[in-house]
Amino acid sequence: MKLKIRSKFAALFISLLIIFIFIQWVLTFFYAKSLFWATLFSFVSVAMLAYFLLKAFTRQIQDHFSKTLVEVNSQFKNTILEISREKDYLQTILKGMSEGVLVVDERGRIRMVNEALRKLFPLPPEVLDRTLLELIRNAELEEAIREAIRDGKGSAFELKLPSFPERTFEVNVAGILPSFERTPPEGRSTEGAIAVFHDISRLKELEKIRQDFVANVSHELRTPLTTIKGYTETLLDGALREEVAPQFLQVIQKHADRLAKIVEDLLTLSQIESKEFQLRIEKISLSEFVGDIFDFIKEAADKKEISISSHVNPSTLTVRADRGHLEQILINLLDNAIKYTHGGGKIKVSVIERDQREIEFSIKDDGIGIPKEDLPRIFERFYRVDKGRSQESGGTGLGLSIVKHLVQAHGGRIWVESRLGEGSAFHFTIPCPVTSEKQGEEEL
Ligand code: ADP
Repeated sequence: MKLKIRSKFAALFISLLIIFIFIQWVLTFFYAKSLFWATLFSFVSVAMLAYFLLKAFTRQIQDHFSKTLVEVNSQFKNTILEISREKDYLQTILKGMSEGVLVVDERGRIRMVNEALRKLFPLPPEVLDRTLLELIRNAELEEAIREAIRDGKGSAFELKLPSFPERTFEVNVAGILPSFERTPPEGRSTEGAIAVFHDISRLKELEKIRQDFVANVSHELRTPLTTIKGYTETLLDGALREEVAPQFLQVIQKHADRLAKIVEDLLTLSQIESKEFQLRIEKISLSEFVGDIFDFIKEAADKKEISISSHVNPSTLTVRADRGHLEQILINLLDNAIKYTHGGGKIKVSVIERDQREIEFSIKDDGIGIPKEDLPRIFERFYRVDKGRSQESGGTGLGLSIVKHLVQAHGGRIWVESRLGEGSAFHFTIPCPVTSEKQGEEEL
């Protein structure tokens, strides 16, 4: 552009010079004017011509410049718009991310944190320009960020914070490489670093539960298997012909039954937890239902001379539930009540309607009770207060866990009240009761 203008000026200058020389030559040669007057006249004419031409030329240049300025202005506006749009995208992404993001400059001072990071770490409101050390004290994180700033080297590691409960993060750190127009400050290869924090505490917790579960199952299966193996070997070594043989066989049978029960309970649990698990809801008349359950457990209660009574209020009460699973819940709880109550004890079952919103079942015994410290863990798989006593009475430690899952599958709650040496009361609810007036059985 500059070159174009300059060459135009040069051409104009040369043309004017030629015109000047031509007029001067014509005046001196044809009209025999003196050189002074010829030069003066030529100069004045060329100056006037130059004035008009330059004026026209400048206008042209002015027009050109203002056009260019308008173009540059609109381009500049577009670029600004583009940048602010990209900034908005970035802000939205950072806001929507569940991972915490932290950006530091080349001096290790914080330039940006997103909302998720504020939720993950208790940060003060003002974090800009502060160092990481002031906010999250962790040597490994510090070192990773320092390395990323120094050499642009990325790293990934697990960060454990000794909070309560302990939290684990997967952290990815990377150096921010400078864009090609900018040179990094003071010979560094980066302009800072970015760290992304992913909270994997829940994942770790689940992994631990799974590991514990596998360890527990293996342990539970090993005990009866070892016994069965030991007795079988003794029998094969010659005891088969001795008097004790039937006794040994009974022990083998008892432990084989136990193995079968554990496997059965585990299968039940995995069925309840599977995606395909569905309840077959029907209307159940509760007085009748509780009576049938009592018939089922009567023998076990009579054996220990334990009396069982029930109270269904109102007696016409009905519930919408899966009959088979509701039976399993009540039988498990009653079975436990009989198991953990001394001979001659009392068990009371009550079923009442609460606020027409849910039906509450309570199974109360005056048995051995549960120590206070064990109460929060009583519904965990394989958790038993007294392992020996539970195993002796054929328990697997899975009963209450199955009960809890079944109650929750119905949308209900379960809880326990107990005092050591005084007895226990297990309560559970089934929501959305069908009032006693409604008739007809349905299946979903
Ligand atoms: P188990 O097969 O051992 O009975 P559960 O899951 O049914 O397993 O129960 C877990 C533990 O809870 C039992 O081992 C026992 O210690 C305690 N428990 C359950 N019900 C009662 C109860 N009614 N009275 C006292 N302790 C109970």
